[in-house]
Amino acid sequence: MQHFNIAVDGPAGAGKSTIARAVASRLGLIYVDTGAMYRAMALYLLREKVLPSQEAGVLAACEKARVTIRYEDGIQKVILNGEDVSGLIRTEEVGETASIISGYVPVREKLVELQRQLARDADVIMDGRDIASCVLPDAQVKIYLTASVRVRAERRFKELKERGGDCDLAKIEKDIQERDYRDMHREHSPLIQVKEAVLVDTSDLDIPQTIGRIITIAREHGFTPREEGEGPDWK
Ligand code: C5P
Repeated sequence: MQHFNIAVDGPAGAGKSTIARAVASRLGLIYVDTGAMYRAMALYLLREKVLPSQEAGVLAACEKARVTIRYEDGIQKVILNGEDVSGLIRTEEVGETASIISGYVPVREKLVELQRQLARDADVIMDGRDIASCVLPDAQVKIYLTASVRVRAERRFKELKERGGDCDLAKIEKDIQERDYRDMHREHSPLIQVKEAVLVDTSDLDIPQTIGRIITIAREHGFTPREEGEGPDWK
């Protein structure tokens, strides 16, 4: 049976994971956060004190990092060499390192294989940078989710403030611009909007509006809820 796959791509801070997680729960899909896999790999390198800019060192270290995914009550957990690191990968440092090492082909190949396997086994909504262009080119629905740099920086600023962090809006905006540039201009699997993707710009949409928009697009592309019990065992 061909599973229903929704690919969501877009730049950092566009709200992909919040939106994809909510759509997954509303439509009964598995949410696959591919950024978390790159982040787990990045965490391993930071712990091993390997410089992300040194490709040979990164590739050698990655041989020893086994990243897998587990689901607990429908929530994705990222496992690094047997340890659940889901709560440790959301820092700026890990995100930056992930963005650098995601430019190396062997790192990508390893994680893309895992991502394709997940999509073969279940109905998924998967978010990342190369989902429509590389990981799941046959996905029934392709969404390009974005927002202006200013709006994304303001959202990030608010989030960090709420967590009690000390932050500077101008610096966040500059970091987002740099990350966008790196993700869009790297040689392998850069972030692009494929021609059949539906553009959803969330600069002027709130979260419920964005979720509603994506559910409508999924229905327009043939999504119908499966019967109870048709989901995968690991859901
Ligand atoms: O989405 P998130 O910010 O968690 O991703 C961290 C980094 O991992 C991104 O900046 C991007 O460079 C990389 N990434 C990628 N391909 C994906 C998902 C994430 O290159 N499918």
